[in-house]
This record gives sequence, C-alpha cells and structure tokens, in this order.
Amino acid sequence: MRDHPSVLGCRIDPLSMLAALDRVEGFIEQADPKESSHIITLNAEIAYQAYYDPALRDLINRAAMVTPDGIGIVWGARQLGIDVPGRVTGIDLMERICQRAASRGWKIYLLGAEPGIAEQAARNLQQRYPGLIIAGVHHGYFQPDEEPEIIADIIRTAPQVLFVGLGAPRQEWWIDQYKDQLQVPVCIGVGGSLDVISGHKQRAPEWAIKLNLEWLYRLATEPSRFKRQLVLPRFVGLIIKSRLRKRS
Ligand code: UDP
Repeated sequence: MRDHPSVLGCRIDPLSMLAALDRVEGFIEQADPKESSHIITLNAEIAYQAYYDPALRDLINRAAMVTPDGIGIVWGARQLGIDVPGRVTGIDLMERICQRAASRGWKIYLLGAEPGIAEQAARNLQQRYPGLIIAGVHHGYFQPDEEPEIIADIIRTAPQVLFVGLGAPRQEWWIDQYKDQLQVPVCIGVGGSLDVISGHKQRAPEWAIKLNLEWLYRLATEPSRFKRQLVLPRFVGLIIKSRLRKRS
C-alpha cells in the first residue's frame, strides 16, 4: 500500500479540487465492476474521534481517497508539514461530480436526509446540470429491516456514484458495510449536503466560505452543533502535541 500523509493517524490526500475530481473520474473509468472506491471528506471532528477510535481510523485509512473537508483539518495538516492546497468539501465535491456526471453520462444515486429532500435535491441538480441522470433516491430515515430493499434498488439502478447523506461517521460506516455488495464505483459520504442542495437549508454566504468562517456560520444557525464543536480546541491541542513530537 502507498504511504499517505496523515493527520493524527488519519490518511489525507493533499489534492486540489480538480485533482480530486480527476481521481474520481479515474475510479469510475477504471472501475473493476466489483470494486467500490470509498471517498471520505474528513473534518477535524471526525479526525478527533478517530484518534480515540482505532476502528474508525482503520476505516478512514482503507478509503480510496480522503480529502480535507474543513478549515480545521487543513490547518492541522499544514501544521504537520503536509502541503494541502485547500478545502475539498463534501458539498463542493458533490456539485463538481454532478457537473462532470452530466457531461460523461454517469448515473448518480442520492441516499439520505428526511423524506422528500433527496427528490428535491435531485430536481435541483438536474436543473443546474442538464442531462444529469438520476438513478434513484431514497431518504435516510430507514429501519435496518428496510436496508435490503434499498441495497437492491441501488444494485438494480446501477449508478456510477452513490452520495450518502446520513451524517458522519454513520454514513462512512454504512458505505463500508455495504460497498462490496453495492458494486458502485464511487461511494461518498456528504453529510447534510442534500439539505443544502434541496434548498431546505442555507449554506454560509460566499464571503464567509472565502474567509474560512463557514464553521462559525453553522454554529450560529445550528446552535445544537455547539457540543460537537467543543472538540475543536482539543483537536488543536493534539495537533500541537503531534507537531512537537515530530520535531523532537
Ligand atoms: N440523517 C439521515 N438519517 C438519520 C439521521 C440523519 O438521513 O437517521 C441526515 C440528516 O437529515 C441530514 C444529515 O443526515 O441531512 C446530517 O447532516 P449534518 O450536517 O449533521 O452532517 P454531518 O455534519 O454530521 O456530516
């Protein structure tokens, strides 16, 4: 296996958006129909969780590509001497994949979010990227006994890309559990992106994204995320420790 740079033991691929997109295309074009490439967009919260959870860390390190989703992980990577070009977020990567899918004829499947949201997201994507083929959609509030039906639908409709928006890291575990059965060339967890693409939730304004303040906007609009973001100072502490250890 190739040696990849890592942040707190989690693989990270220091790729630009365009390079990540080309990598996705490579996974699809060369796909051995039996093999699924799992793409993870990693943020500081999940990297922090994985630091204390070897199984999650192992899952991340088995992925085909891991991009830095948030400014925290970009900062952490750079502190550790990894030359990360910038953020490659789940939602941006998803939009760009859909844009390319429309021109290449790849079919996509949307799984996740509350009933009705994935359908609306699919309609909006088709409007934005004419020609985009939607293989299927399914909401993310299913019971375990409904999973075989969802899996059968994905296999039957044979998308090239499966977007899973169940929240992290549940979506990563879901993909990991089923990817061998699904045989979809590219599976990627996209968190709450379906809510945003459907218009159900607002993304931070462009200026906030540019200033790397998207996390602050989310905190202000979804105060329930406060508890989750409490790990961020601890993540910073671990990065500083890791950097000191590297130096000595
Ligand atoms: N979700 C889902 N099924 C569940 C729980 C959550 O489909 O049982 C969806 C939820 O509706 C939302 C997404 O998962 O669309 C989680 O969004 P969030 O922004 O919290 O993602 P994260 O930041 O955890 O990646």
